[in-house]
Amino acid sequence: MITSPASFNLHASVIQQLPPALFHNHPHIYIKRDDLLHPIVSGNKFRKLKYLIAEIQEKKIENLVTFGGAFSNHMVATAAAGALFNLKTHCFVRGNEIEQTFNHYLKTAALFGMSLIPVERNAYANEKEKLIEQHFGNNANYFFVAEGGESEAAIKGVAEIVHELGFEPDIIVHASATATTSRGLLLGLSELNYRTTLVPVAVLKNAEEQQQKINTWELNTNCLVQSDFTFGGYAKTTPELLHFTQNFIQRTGIFIDPVYTGKALFALQSLIGLQQITPAQKVVFLHTGGTLGIFSDRFINSISAQ
Ligand SMILES: *Cc1c(COP(=O)(O)O)cnc(C)c1O
Repeated sequence: MITSPASFNLHASVIQQLPPALFHNHPHIYIKRDDLLHPIVSGNKFRKLKYLIAEIQEKKIENLVTFGGAFSNHMVATAAAGALFNLKTHCFVRGNEIEQTFNHYLKTAALFGMSLIPVERNAYANEKEKLIEQHFGNNANYFFVAEGGESEAAIKGVAEIVHELGFEPDIIVHASATATTSRGLLLGLSELNYRTTLVPVAVLKNAEEQQQKINTWELNTNCLVQSDFTFGGYAKTTPELLHFTQNFIQRTGIFIDPVYTGKALFALQSLIGLQQITPAQKVVFLHTGGTLGIFSDRFINSISAQ
């Protein structure tokens, strides 16, 4: 099939079975490979951008403006989308990492042509509107995309994942931070009248906040945020998690990272071990991408020769 150069190739996101041996011999663990939507860019960030990009193109806007931390998958996904769709992208980056470390996230964003604007932490937290006004106030031709953004467009893009499954799983498990991905999945589930239980795994210490947010939505299914798998907080790891991540990659050939998908897969394995997920249940693990996380020093340096 020949597709347009400027497209999100959603067909790349196949569903595969994971080896039962990795999950206490559970015979029905499937993985939805949104990590394959792009070689290095995070899957769910692409999903969130899809309809925003369509809107930008329709309005013939040329500049996309956003915010991100120095390790932001959103920043890199936006940069890649800009290169794919011929948009000029700009990102206000929190802190002074651009001058100091210029890490591989920032380098990748720059490689895709994104212009990076360093912003002191206080201004980043409190003066977003002022910053946009200062830098883009006299240029009407820009579109602002919020970091982690819970927009209708983002939710609609994520909901499509459920439609692509082609069957009704009993459980969907995924790494969760802002609950925007959860919201999109819940929309997809209700559109299809699926009774699937959603299990978001909090990768930072905000599970309660996420659950409270979810409880304000009209739900047709159960959605239980897991709080026990943060490993100490966002981007924090333990030797056990790093070992799990390395072992999973060796046994499957699928890249996962210890910041997001590693924690969520560890949670899935644990929940099966605790018999909170039974062998009869069909489980889909949504791979939300984040492949760049593998190349962070703290993970790469933990790998030992066999
Ligand atoms: C951003 C991100 C998430 C979390 O998505 P939310 O919609 O904020 O819950 C999960 N996995 C990866 C790889 C991400 O980059």
